[in-house]
Amino acid sequence: MKRSIGLAVALCFLTSFVTAFPSVAADPPPMSDAEKEKIRAIVKEVIREYAATLNEKQGHGGANDIVSEIRQANRNFMRTHGPGYFKTFLDAQQPRATVVTCSDSRIHTHALDATPDGDLFMVRNIGNQIATAEGSVEYGVHHLHTPLLLIVGHVACGAIKAAANDYSQETSPLRRELDSLQIPKGDPGLNSVKLNVNNQVRLGLSKFENEVMSGHLTVVGAVYDFRNEMRQGQGKLNIINVNGETNPAKMAGMALLKEAPAHPPMAAVHRPAAKKAPPTEAQSGENSAPADEHQKPAKKPSTH
Ligand SMILES: [Zn+2]
Repeated sequence: MKRSIGLAVALCFLTSFVTAFPSVAADPPPMSDAEKEKIRAIVKEVIREYAATLNEKQGHGGANDIVSEIRQANRNFMRTHGPGYFKTFLDAQQPRATVVTCSDSRIHTHALDATPDGDLFMVRNIGNQIATAEGSVEYGVHHLHTPLLLIVGHVACGAIKAAANDYSQETSPLRRELDSLQIPKGDPGLNSVKLNVNNQVRLGLSKFENEVMSGHLTVVGAVYDFRNEMRQGQGKLNIINVNGETNPAKMAGMALLKEAPAHPPMAAVHRPAAKKAPPTEAQSGENSAPADEHQKPAKKPSTH
């Protein structure tokens, strides 16, 4: 109701402004910059109010439902993750990997790490690029000192597809992000996905040469294959590059690619052991104390 009144007032104001300069009259005096700015502000406000009204009218499947579902999912998360889960990273983060991956909604951390909280410093953008998020990647490597920089491309990547075609009609921000993908025109498939991953690894090696040469950083490139295009299994994270090495036979001999123990999570290094969380109260209902159904596991074995 309040919005409707505001909209009506704004429209009345605009109408009165327009009628103040009837077309039959002589040319109106030029508007000052201040007057123009005032009009722009009013138009913006009218658009904003109109958009808000539209939002209220959205039916099933609109943003209202999505936000409701997200809030419900979050309540479930809170219920099943007690204080102990957050304890190990309450005051600081010590992630073990800086991960550069595509924003594509089909790629998520649960494919790489069952408990990614505090573990993975995530950098996401279209085309899993270093160039368009350079500061974020530097933060992970230089300030958080992650021993691993992992580039994750994926099959059926829309950014790769776009970059392999004519994108001259896209907006300038989009063009800018596609420009930095160095792939050939006309090849929107897996070869270009791999090429881009290798390009990103090369860029990472170049940017962080000192860390790599001193043994403090390993740069790994991978392709997440949710369509089994690489015939290695659906959902497989296929490592295709380790510090610039792309020969599968040579990579297979690397300690880095030895099979993980039966119960991951990710390799336990560079991380203090998490203390066992105190027991939590039993709970019932949404407002009670959350349970530690999901205990954040210690990443480093307590004994050597
Ligand atoms: Zn993508």
